[in-house]
Amino acid sequence: MSELLRVEGLSKRFGGVTANEDISFDVRKGEILGVIGPNGAGKSTLFDLITGFQQADSGTVILDGRDITGLRPDRIARMGVGRTFQKLKPFPDLTLLENVMVGALSRTANMHEARDLALEAISFVDLLDKRYAFARELSTGQRKRLEMARAVASGPRLLLMDEVTGGVDQKTIPGLIDLVFALRESGITVLTIEHNMQVMMQVSDRILALQSGKRIAFAKPDEVRKDPLVVDAYLGTVDAA
Ligand code: ADP
Ligand code: MG
Repeated sequence: MSELLRVEGLSKRFGGVTANEDISFDVRKGEILGVIGPNGAGKSTLFDLITGFQQADSGTVILDGRDITGLRPDRIARMGVGRTFQKLKPFPDLTLLENVMVGALSRTANMHEARDLALEAISFVDLLDKRYAFARELSTGQRKRLEMARAVASGPRLLLMDEVTGGVDQKTIPGLIDLVFALRESGITVLTIEHNMQVMMQVSDRILALQSGKRIAFAKPDEVRKDPLVVDAYLGTVDAA
């Protein structure tokens, strides 16, 4: 498999906190790469650096051979990098369809086309019957799907998802996992942060483990599960359920 993303030596400090320290890894076309680590490990910051929402202090981000380090988020999005956020922020008083159209409008200025792309994405996440519901009326699981649809409507090659199964009830999780696999089936490469270890082991081709801003492991799920640093840093501190 060829390489879609290469991250080299990314570092980011916030005052006295080193959120990311010299992080390197690659993402291959068509793979699902999982990012794990305890709260505060630097996972969301890493996504912010890749997608341009924060500027790295040092290091580079290469997308399909092009250096995208330091580009603005909208430019990176237009180059085919989609993103969902850990803290969901849909427009509460817009409908599901309108929220997803916002994603589609990063790809086309034509309203008609944006609506079609949005409907296609909404159908993909299986929420077509809710398209005229206001975002505020949706359940957490449905809002996670809204986020995914908004990202899908922007036409990504690479999709970064921050805790898609976080904060939803257990019975909602399998449907969201199926969607991650469906994304890959549709040709999208996935970089996903999950708190739930079992989910991560199930979906990931490879796993990047972070602790205190540092990379502590980068390997196949079976190896990462057995890695003493990971067991120490992560499995021991959170419920591994
Ligand atoms: P994770 O997503 O793994 O829980 P984060 O990337 O959100 O971790 O945070 C890593 C560290 O960086 C934490 O100590 C957090 O408080 C800090 N941090 C993240 N974003 C900011 C910010 N915008 N300003 C200041 N500190 C931040
Ligand atoms: Mg986070």
